[in-house]
Amino acid sequence: MNPPASLTPRRAIAITHGEATSDGDGVKMTRLIGSRAQAPVDPFLMLDFFGSDSANDYIGGFPDHPHRGFETVTYMLAGRMRHFDNHGHEGVIEAGDVQWMTAGRGVIHSEMPEQQSGLMRGFQLWINLPAAQKMCAPDYQEYKAATLPVEEAKGVRIKIIAGTRGAITGPVKAAHVDARYFDIELTPGARFEEPLPADHTAFFAVYEGGAEVPSDHGQQSVNALSLITLGPGEAASLTAGPEGARALLISGRPLREPVAWGGPFVMNTREEVLKAFDDYRQGRF
Ligand code: FE
Repeated sequence: MNPPASLTPRRAIAITHGEATSDGDGVKMTRLIGSRAQAPVDPFLMLDFFGSDSANDYIGGFPDHPHRGFETVTYMLAGRMRHFDNHGHEGVIEAGDVQWMTAGRGVIHSEMPEQQSGLMRGFQLWINLPAAQKMCAPDYQEYKAATLPVEEAKGVRIKIIAGTRGAITGPVKAAHVDARYFDIELTPGARFEEPLPADHTAFFAVYEGGAEVPSDHGQQSVNALSLITLGPGEAASLTAGPEGARALLISGRPLREPVAWGGPFVMNTREEVLKAFDDYRQGRF
């Protein structure tokens, strides 16, 4: 299923390693997108990686808090997390499961560890919504690991969470920005290649092992944990180093709209953010 070799490669235009931070009630994490180290890449506002086997680093979780104007995607690699929101959605996600929440006009939710000890590891991504959908009705999608399709060939294992690869489409509906969300596992030396719409933003987040990506200076080596922002071109590619690699490939259609970001609210104008704070305080979420 590899595309013809004539596809122009998307080269790495930035390789960053995130910034240590904490959020919620003291949860320690690495912010790969949405920090000084790596600004948002339209339409992706934020990407956090959390991974610790010390309960102190995660046990506080994320008690009740609001969101408006974007989507939050939580993908678990290890551990258990319970989601609860004021629109009646509740679920526990564990290793390999994904939760895709469209906050739309407003959600108040909590995301709390469903464990007292052991390893907690995963990603949270924030995807901006187009202006026309920022005030849409909230939505909640949750898929267990066993329901997510996997394609395997030549040392490459790809879990397709959202978007289409060849004949396989992931179950998550992600039409607002036509998002792709793939989890890729490569054996040592294995090569992954994926044609992507030329005008879509795309990045890899390498979270285990190491890999090589094309750059303006030939193949460039990266180790976990790295965020590789890709430039224009027709196909994204990643070749595993001697230890193999695990990485996310995420892509989406850029919105090219003004971003007004105020804490848990991401709108197009300052007035809309102030309105969000007011609506939240008045109990209109
Ligand atoms: Fe949240």
